[in-house]
Parts: sequence; structure tokens; C-alpha cells
Amino acid sequence: MSYIRSLPMPEKVPFNRPFVFGTEFEHVHQAIASGHMSGNGPFTKSCQKFFETRFGVGKALFTSSCTDALEMAAILLDIGPGDEVIVPSFTFVSTANAFALRGATLRFADSLPSHPNLDPNSLATLISAKTKAIVIVHYAGFACNLARIREIAGQIPIIEDCAHSIDASYYGQPLGTFGRFATFSFHETKNLSCGEGGMLAMNDPVDFERGEIIWEKGTNRAAFWRGIVSKYDWIDLGSSFLGSDLNAAFLWAQIERIDDIQSRRVLIWNRYYNNLRQLEAEFGVELPSVPSGSNVNGHIFYIVTRSFGERLELIQHLIRKNIYAVSHYLPLNDSPFALDKFGEFDTPYSRKFADRLLRLPLFYDLSLESVDIVSSAVLEFYRGSR
Ligand SMILES: *Cc1c(COP(=O)(O)O)cnc(C)c1O
Repeated sequence: MSYIRSLPMPEKVPFNRPFVFGTEFEHVHQAIASGHMSGNGPFTKSCQKFFETRFGVGKALFTSSCTDALEMAAILLDIGPGDEVIVPSFTFVSTANAFALRGATLRFADSLPSHPNLDPNSLATLISAKTKAIVIVHYAGFACNLARIREIAGQIPIIEDCAHSIDASYYGQPLGTFGRFATFSFHETKNLSCGEGGMLAMNDPVDFERGEIIWEKGTNRAAFWRGIVSKYDWIDLGSSFLGSDLNAAFLWAQIERIDDIQSRRVLIWNRYYNNLRQLEAEFGVELPSVPSGSNVNGHIFYIVTRSFGERLELIQHLIRKNIYAVSHYLPLNDSPFALDKFGEFDTPYSRKFADRLLRLPLFYDLSLESVDIVSSAVLEFYRGSR
């Protein structure tokens, strides 16, 4: 019988691996022991306070998801049928769906030619007398051109979808403080995570009271608990948008380590950038360009291949080496639902990034050795095919 020696397989490099520090369990245990497991408990208050003090947002409300926070913003703005809302073409479904739920007509703005972020010129062409809101996404944590966008928006409220942009800034001012609203995500793929979770940031005091009512199923229960009203009642639209204090307890452990998480992710991001930067000059592969005024928050590292086919081959090349890299969004306006409901929008650059952008593995405990292995595999793909 022949003896077959198997070759050692390199360790698998997944695209994402959620990281748990261990203190999450202690905090969740504490929440259980304290007897407050529903929403708006002590951990919820700590997480909200953190967002208000560290990032300087007006008032923060912890939600079950970023999707919930976006839906709250749509209710707060009284969006309804006949209203137009401008959203980026290159984003996650929730960014648009939250407004479609209220009956709004969506209009889709294209990406910049050389960056997945929304192109202010495309935005400008979509503004009409019916525009009730503009939603922007700071893709991969890179700040949109807020100066231009605010100028174009004038009095139209802006919502920053900050799902990617925790701890990111624009000329030193934290993202999430520019719009009337900002929404954050703590899904397990994001920089801070509690499985599923989100945060609505409100920057205009006119929204603070009503925001809390919508958060608590349309009731004034939060004011009741504070002793401001003697009974609580149904007074507005709402839903069960608030997250459980068990989730907030988990999140608090991650918030306690935010500086560690951020410096680690930025280190990994920079390592990829330095390892792969030659690809730009040698092969015309695009690397992320950091827009003026923006910092790097290490949320996503991507490259833009030269064609759809090339990306497919590169993904397969990496899988053979046990490395898992993934594409990202499809243009929302090209989806069956949006095409049917809102008609056609010409978004060549959103389509470009949908076809050619590839995200490389990036998570808290990804070793620099693994970053080098992934980078070498990418370089080998290009140099080997020359
Ligand atoms: C992740 C994500 C969301 C949704 O976040 P959830 O917390 O999963 O609801 C919304 N917008 C963008 C841009 C995202 O990346």
C-alpha cells in the first residue's frame, strides 16, 4: 500500500472573523445579574454617551441595527409618497430600503470615476423641488466630499450612513457630525461589533425628543422613566427600534477597546497598501485613493482589477491558496426591485466598482504574516501572468 504524504495546506485566511476580547461575557453577565436586559438600560446609556462625547454627535440612540437607525431617520423626516430621496447607487440595500418603506421615490447617484463614494456632480443633477433627503455613504471609511455635498444640498437634510466610518473624520471633524442624522452599524463585519446592532446619531436638537419616542414604539416611555411625564401613552409612529441591553453590554466591551481595534486595523490596512502599491504603476490595478480631508479607519481594504473577468480569475487564484477575497455591492438601481419601481439610472462608475472592486481579508486578529501571504498571492497573480 502506497504511503501518500499530504502537502501541508497553508492556514485558511477567511475574509472576516469576528473578534471577541473576553470582557464581552463579563459585561453580558453583569447585565443579566443587574436584572435589566431589555432596552435603554445602563450599558445602552454608556454606549450612547460614548458616541456623544468621543465623536461629538448631538444625541445618540442605540438600535437593533443600522437598518433600524436609517428607518428612524426616514420617520423623523416625515418622508412619504411623492417625496424624492437621493441615495448612492453603490451601497447596501438598507441605505435605500429605509426610505422606500415610507413610500419615497428613490433617485440613484453615481460613484466618482476613481472612488466608490458618491459623485457630487451626479448628486447635483438629481436634485429637484421634491427632494426631501440626501443619503450619503462614506465608503470603506473614506469621507465623501462634504464641502461640495453640503453646498449642493443647501437646506435639504443629509443623512450620513456611517456603517463603514466609525472613528473616521473629514478635516479632523468626526464623520457622523455633518448630517442632520448619522447611522452606525455594529454588525459582525464592522469595526465595532455586537453581532447585530446600530446607533442613530441626531445632530439637530429639534429631533431629540421625537427620536426617543419613535425609538420606544411611538410612546413617551423614556420620558416616563425619567419622571418627566406621569404616564406613558401612544403619541406618534414608532417601532421597537431600541436594542437589548445584553447587546449593548457586549458592545461596551468592544468600545472599551476601540483604540486598540482601530490602530490594529489601520496597521493592517497600511501593510496591504505598502505591499501592493506597485500594482498601480506596473499593471494599472487601482488601489484605494484617500480623498482630501479623509483619514484611514481600516474598515475595508480593496483593489480595483482591470476587468470583471480578471477579478473572477484572481478570486479563484486566491481560493486555491485558501484565501477568501470578496466583491462588494451591485448597483442598487440595477436591481430587479429598483428597476421596476424607480426606472433606469445611468451609473457607469457604480457599475465599474460592482464589476471590478475586490475586498481583501481584514479583521482585528489577522496577522501581519497573513497580510503578507495574501499580498504575495495577489502580486504573484499579476506578475505570473505577465
Ligand atoms: C452594514 C451596512 C448597513 C446595514 O447595517 P446593519 O447594522 O446590518 O443593519 C447599512 N449601510 C451600509 C453602508 C452597510 O455597510
